[in-house]
Amino acid sequence: MDRQLTHRGAARSVTALAAMLAHEIKNPLSGIRGAAQLLEGSVDDQDRTLTRLICDEADRIVKLVDRMEVFSDERPVERQPVNIHVVLEHVKKLSQSGFARHIRFVEEYDPSLPPVFGNRDQLVQVFLNLVKNAAEAIGEGATDGEIMLSTAFRPGVRLTMPGVSSRVALPLEVCVRDNGPGVPDDLMPHLFDPFVTTKSSGTGLGLALVAKIVGDHGGIVECDSQPRKTVFRILLPMARVSQTDMNGRKSL
Ligand code: ADP
Ligand code: MG
Repeated sequence: MDRQLTHRGAARSVTALAAMLAHEIKNPLSGIRGAAQLLEGSVDDQDRTLTRLICDEADRIVKLVDRMEVFSDERPVERQPVNIHVVLEHVKKLSQSGFARHIRFVEEYDPSLPPVFGNRDQLVQVFLNLVKNAAEAIGEGATDGEIMLSTAFRPGVRLTMPGVSSRVALPLEVCVRDNGPGVPDDLMPHLFDPFVTTKSSGTGLGLALVAKIVGDHGGIVECDSQPRKTVFRILLPMARVSQTDMNGRKSL
């Protein structure tokens, strides 16, 4: 009896993972589609046939992925020191050429911060999901939509780095703020649960994936939200650096 229950649980989590993967294919695809759509305005008729082809094929993959049943295992990912500012700028560029064309971006980076220890592609995914949600919350009709990306050292917290036995790290905090309407009150307790969405075409997997990736990195995700002030704070472990690199920050 117990075994049966365990089996059902495992099957459900594989299905959830498959759905997450499908979601993750769509994000870079929407970047490709957005870029092709941008090009459309500045090319001649012959090239426009090609940009249309890119858009149509991207749409076709999205539909295929929707129907596809993907099974995947959780293989460990490679982690290394990653410059979080490069990640954030990349996400900003991708967003601005696609779904966030109507948004003003503001950056408040602390350039003296050391790299974080993580997987670059997964971190791009995390911030792309957050920026996409922020842009969608602000809505296309808004004329004063603003997303702020900031980085800072977060004192007073220690993170345990997974896979590195009993190693602790100091956290770097990345904030993604938006001036949209805020997270509905009743949604807040379930915000990071899979399949929770208020959008007609949403998957409800974006934040579940954010929580999963950040958790796998040994990090923490927090959200504070009220109208015109929503902030997602992501704490990530800083890569181990020498005392001098820490710029006077308390070393481990
Ligand atoms: P999806 O975007 O597919 O709906 P997510 O897991 O990314 O799924 O987000 C879940 C829900 O959380 C969204 O449908 C939305 O209601 C809410 N949400 C997420 N980010 C924000 C935000 N920045 N402002 C307001 N609501 C948000
Ligand atoms: Mg989302």
